[in-house]
Amino acid sequence: MGRKSLKIEQLARKGILDLVAYVPGKSIEEVERELGKKKWVKLASNENALGPSPRAITAIRKELSNLHLYPEGPCPDLKRALGQRFSVSEEKVVISNGADNVLSLIASAFLNEGEDAVMATPTFSVYSTVTRIMGAKPIEVNLKEFTHDLPSMLNKVNHKTKLLFVCNPNNPTGTIVTKKALDEFVSRIPDWLILVLDQAYWDFADSPDYPEGLDYVREGRPVILLRTFSKVFGLAGLRIGCAIGRQDLIDCLCRVREPFPVHRLGQAGAVAALKDKVHARKSIQMVVEGRRYLYRELDKMGLFYLPSQANFVFMDLRKDSKKALQDLLAEGVIIRPGYIWGYPTFARVTVGRPEDNRRFIKVLRKTL
Ligand SMILES: *Cc1c(COP(=O)(O)O)cnc(C)c1O
Repeated sequence: MGRKSLKIEQLARKGILDLVAYVPGKSIEEVERELGKKKWVKLASNENALGPSPRAITAIRKELSNLHLYPEGPCPDLKRALGQRFSVSEEKVVISNGADNVLSLIASAFLNEGEDAVMATPTFSVYSTVTRIMGAKPIEVNLKEFTHDLPSMLNKVNHKTKLLFVCNPNNPTGTIVTKKALDEFVSRIPDWLILVLDQAYWDFADSPDYPEGLDYVREGRPVILLRTFSKVFGLAGLRIGCAIGRQDLIDCLCRVREPFPVHRLGQAGAVAALKDKVHARKSIQMVVEGRRYLYRELDKMGLFYLPSQANFVFMDLRKDSKKALQDLLAEGVIIRPGYIWGYPTFARVTVGRPEDNRRFIKVLRKTL
């Protein structure tokens, strides 16, 4: 054709080559390939150690014979169930292939090249990635005492800012911003901005100061809440997340959504899981008790940790976290090392079943 082949630098969209692919917590499959079979305890990805809701499994089995048929793209049953659960009209709900994917929808619906998105650091890394994919700029504001510094975040807002991300409870610290602080923040947000309130862990927050966020949506504020079926419902492998927000904002997300983002098994499983109050209650209780157990044991060992409102605890192991990860792996326990968030001696450890937590503490004592 007479045209010279393009270098990858010319083929890729601007900025894409500066991104690095997301590195998740090590999966059991991955450590088994590297270190062989053993009884692994995975405390690296904030999954539900009780497993999926049994009612979800039954519903998924029933749905298997329909897999030759396309699912319904907008997930009407699940949308209705979520609308009822949270007392919002179902037009204010959009469902997609994991909350991660909802974040991509938000970025592609709202961020123009050259605009800004303000977020904390460290926080969930996907906010920064989806922002950069759109050619927009993440503006990162350091946490203050391990908590979102909302006044400083507001100070970073200018005419180019479009999105604000607040992860509440925050991943990886497990800290929350209080209702009072968030109310104040929301009332001061200029009206050209959208607040994305990521509540992936909201079920585990038991502080009376925790803001549920739904009132902002009911009042018509420019707010989008994110929730997921990956944590309390134990369906991380199924990939379902949702956004609840002002109707005009949700409408934009529907326009950029792919045609069939959630498969039939996902929709059936999520509807059943949502109804399974027993499993959710047990999961929350396991986490609340597990957190207390970990605090007690860490106190005995004299290790610093942040009291958590989520299903994980961010703790200072006082040794290089890469080394800590390797030492714990050798004992069959997988954790998330803190160096990835700029805390070289910290680790983020998911609260598991009582036996998982005991095993973690036992091998931690041994390896320290
Ligand atoms: C786990 C997590 C998500 C992702 O949820 P998926 O529905 O599994 O994509 C989103 N936000 C935060 C803060 C998380 O920790």
